[in-house]
Amino acid sequence: MILDSFKLDGKVALVTGAGQGLGQGMALALAEAGADIVGLDRRECGETCAAVKAMGRRFKQVVCDLRQADAAALQEIVAGAVTDMGHLDILLNNAGIIRRAPALQFTEADWDDVLHINLRVVFFLSQAAAGVMVPQGHGKIIQIASMLSFQGGVIVPAYTAAKSGVAGITRALANEWAPLGLNVNAIAPGYMATDNTAPLRADAGRSTSILGRIPANRWGTPNDLQGVVVFLASSASDYLNGAIIPVDGGWLTR
Ligand code: NAP
Repeated sequence: MILDSFKLDGKVALVTGAGQGLGQGMALALAEAGADIVGLDRRECGETCAAVKAMGRRFKQVVCDLRQADAAALQEIVAGAVTDMGHLDILLNNAGIIRRAPALQFTEADWDDVLHINLRVVFFLSQAAAGVMVPQGHGKIIQIASMLSFQGGVIVPAYTAAKSGVAGITRALANEWAPLGLNVNAIAPGYMATDNTAPLRADAGRSTSILGRIPANRWGTPNDLQGVVVFLASSASDYLNGAIIPVDGGWLTR
């Protein structure tokens, strides 16, 4: 049955930024499809934990400020997940931040924070996860890209640099790790109604111009990513490597 290939029973997924927004929505989708969840965030993900457990899945909490995390700390997080959950099959590199300021005024502190969390951590957590996935001969690594993996954006230069980099390393890692049994792909969400875009939605002018360009005529929601994340985490996507899949209500086609 084709639908069986989407099932994640017995799989373990590490999800960063699992406490709210898109990460929470995708963690719940993976759990509903059968996976146990290791949820990483700066704070306890109580709501996500309760919802995952209500589905009869296991939930392990990792509280970590990724701004402080170096490669060694990320290796420890992966090792802890394997020790506590038995194995690691899926990595969803979702946590991300955005800082808005014109390029002329953009500070080094904002540049470093955004590049660290949105790109450096994505690479070194992928490296750590692949360290356990390559020996087991399978694994699914899912990055969260953006419209700004394709476009320049407005007053978010560091975010654009990082998300363009995410697209690049998705392809680079797919090239290296596909022959070893791993699938590395990315989801590029369009304009989604979360904290990340709250200032845009609060700005009547920006909000109207963004909505006017979305053929689907609405902001996306965390639910809109649930189907694609289960697909990328499951054996249904075994022959998909290095893809960056827009889920954007048609924004890029305009
Ligand atoms: P969000 O609601 O702000 O959620 C981001 C999550 O990441 C939060 O749980 C946040 O925790 C966590 N996080 C942030 N900094 C962290 C850190 N230093 N250490 C650990 N966890 C940290 O944003 P979202 O919209 O769901 O964004 C999720 C991903 O989608 C990001 O990579 C974002 O760039 C990407 N994305 C979003 C959109 C959109 O329109 N919303 C579009 C394209 C791509 P706290 O709550 O503690 O801050």
